[in-house]
Amino acid sequence: MAQLISGKEVSAQVKERVRAQAEELKAKGIEIGLAVVIVGDNPASRVYVNSKKKACEAVGFNSYEYALPEETTEQELLDLVQVLNNDPKVNGILVQLPLPKQINEEAIINAISAEKDVDAFHPMNVGKIMIGSYAFLPCTPAGAMELIDSTGVDVSGKNCVVIGRSNIVGKPMAMLLLHRSGTVTICHSRTQNLKEICRNADILVAAVGRANFVTADMVKPGAVVIDVGINRMEDGKLCGDVDFAAVEPIAGYITPVPGGVGPMTIAMLMQNTLTAAKQQNGLG
Ligand code: NAD
Repeated sequence: MAQLISGKEVSAQVKERVRAQAEELKAKGIEIGLAVVIVGDNPASRVYVNSKKKACEAVGFNSYEYALPEETTEQELLDLVQVLNNDPKVNGILVQLPLPKQINEEAIINAISAEKDVDAFHPMNVGKIMIGSYAFLPCTPAGAMELIDSTGVDVSGKNCVVIGRSNIVGKPMAMLLLHRSGTVTICHSRTQNLKEICRNADILVAAVGRANFVTADMVKPGAVVIDVGINRMEDGKLCGDVDFAAVEPIAGYITPVPGGVGPMTIAMLMQNTLTAAKQQNGLG
């Protein structure tokens, strides 16, 4: 039976660490602010934005919400980003994706000041991750890494397999594992012999977006299994990419969904905003 890796517990520890540091900064007269921009009324985006606001309150940050209508133009959003880039009260800027189709997401990401890019999507920050000298990491892979660390398993020299090659999860996750001296394989939709490759993984990270994709015959006994997937089932329940019931008896450690990587993402956003505030105040 695998040990459960609790994202709830680890994220609470990260947030407590951030809250304590934010309190210290406040005592020095430094308040931390996160601007969250949402365009349109995508219900999932609304849920995420609300959770981010709540997390800001919990750690003692000021949160500034900008809710723009669905028909907002790219120029209007670029103008707002510029205002936020220049606002000293705002240490971090997060534009909730996806954006309506008339707005080019890349143009918006590129316009956010790299110093305030707490999602770490700006090409400057992506490049820094490649080199290994980064201030911010994208929140989801950073959270997954915290969960791996919480097991006490040393990544160095381990076979690490990441399923998924997206810019937001798969690719940066692979880079983080590589920086920790893991031997990393990235699998994707064209990968052949996926089962065999996964079965060789000491650390297996699934970021596919397909319910129950990782089956028991893909998992090495004792492996650390990190499930990034969030899939909504017909009955409304959330489920990950890993067939939890079948894999849990085989794995050494496993994250549940919900309650695994999900809560970590927001905790790492708070961590990144703290880092941004410190750097902008010459304390980083
Ligand atoms: P994506 O759709 O951009 O990427 C999915 C990846 O899976 C692709 O790189 C693709 O090559 C790979 N893939 C698809 N079919 C495959 C197959 N048959 N075999 C092997 N690989 C295959 O998705 P994403 O943005 O990386 O997100 C992945 C999952 O993680 C989704 O369920 C998403 O909801 C979830 N997610 C969770 C969080 C969180 O906070 N927990 C954050 C971001 C994404």
